[in-house]
Amino acid sequence: MADLLTFEAALDRILESATTLTSEVVRLERAAGRVVAEPALARTDLPPFASSAMDGYAVRAAETPGSLPIAERVAAGRPAEAALPTGAAATIATGGAVPDGADAVVPVEHAAEENGRVEIPEAAREGTHVRPRGGDIREGGVVVEPGARLGAAHIGALAAAGVAEVTCSRRPRVAVLATGSELRAPGERLEPGQIFESNRPMIAAVLEPVGAEIELLPVVRDEESAHREALERGLGADVLVTSGGVSVGPHDLVRRIASELGVEESFWGVAVKPGKPLSFGTRGRTLVFGLPGNPVSSLVGALLFVRPALLALQGASDRGPHFEAGRAVSALRRNAYRDEFVRARTAYASGGGVELQAISGQESHMIVRASSANALVHVPRGSGEIAAGEPVRYVAV
Ligand code: AMP
Ligand code: MG
Repeated sequence: MADLLTFEAALDRILESATTLTSEVVRLERAAGRVVAEPALARTDLPPFASSAMDGYAVRAAETPGSLPIAERVAAGRPAEAALPTGAAATIATGGAVPDGADAVVPVEHAAEENGRVEIPEAAREGTHVRPRGGDIREGGVVVEPGARLGAAHIGALAAAGVAEVTCSRRPRVAVLATGSELRAPGERLEPGQIFESNRPMIAAVLEPVGAEIELLPVVRDEESAHREALERGLGADVLVTSGGVSVGPHDLVRRIASELGVEESFWGVAVKPGKPLSFGTRGRTLVFGLPGNPVSSLVGALLFVRPALLALQGASDRGPHFEAGRAVSALRRNAYRDEFVRARTAYASGGGVELQAISGQESHMIVRASSANALVHVPRGSGEIAAGEPVRYVAV
């Protein structure tokens, strides 16, 4: 047990092996979720012109309060034809270009218009309700830094700044293989001794949202030539993720055949529960993960190790996993040798903070039970227990 890598050390080894993929130009409409590879620069000042934040009257603040003739009517998309004459006001809509000379907007609610004049009872302050040109960003400024994974606000910001295309890291191609002679596809009929194959679609579901282009390899029987063929095919991808066949049983062929195919194993075994027999290696630039077959072990391995690796391959500055702070509702026993990731549900405590309740059914084959959890509580290895009410850290899933 003593020679197992810690969770942190294993993750470090994986991330060290993940060198950033090449980049490509992506149209903005297709760029959500992608990781930016080169700074995306504003094509314009934003706003591109001084604009009104309100429907109202563009004025010179120094000429208020007072009664001013209306010199012009400014609509959105149609700037004033001339500078604002002294001693006059212009009607203006939200987003309209504030005419040269004007330095404040008086909202309609604070003015009364009659017979071509507007009555402004109170003094306006200079700059009020005027959005200055370039107040959000200047032309040429960096809208999104490299390493950012594009979310909705980034997409909006880039569009607003006139950016139609972004240079992003290319999406990693990820081959996913399941091994086990007992496995049948959902929808087929189970014969005695068989179970439904659940790891491939589950692993794909973890990895697709972080940019993976998934290739589902066939399910292979515990038989050498089938392993060899499928593994060789998977090694053509950027990342090969296998499930099952990495324990010490006579049918566990993945590591041996992978090694015969030139995969250099970096480690086998991590001091985590579930997921101890996880293996990791490389062939050339291809990362090779051998996840244990038990579905909860596969899930936790994919979330804690493979997901960060995919983000690292894309050059993401934030790879996770992120730990958040909460409190245990009930006592959690420590495992002497392995850090445990206990499946739990979060709730907001009445006194503030997050409470974590472990779900019942923590065994690593119990994927249905695990599916009701939205958190993995980190229980560091050691003796005794984390008492009810004590602080813990967890990963939201
Ligand atoms: P293994 O790591 O191959 O010894 O598998 C450990 C356990 O996980 C066994 O009970 C397998 O039947 C089960 N298992 C392996 N692969 C899968 C899979 N793709 N889907 C569901 N269960 C699996
Ligand atoms: Mg197996």
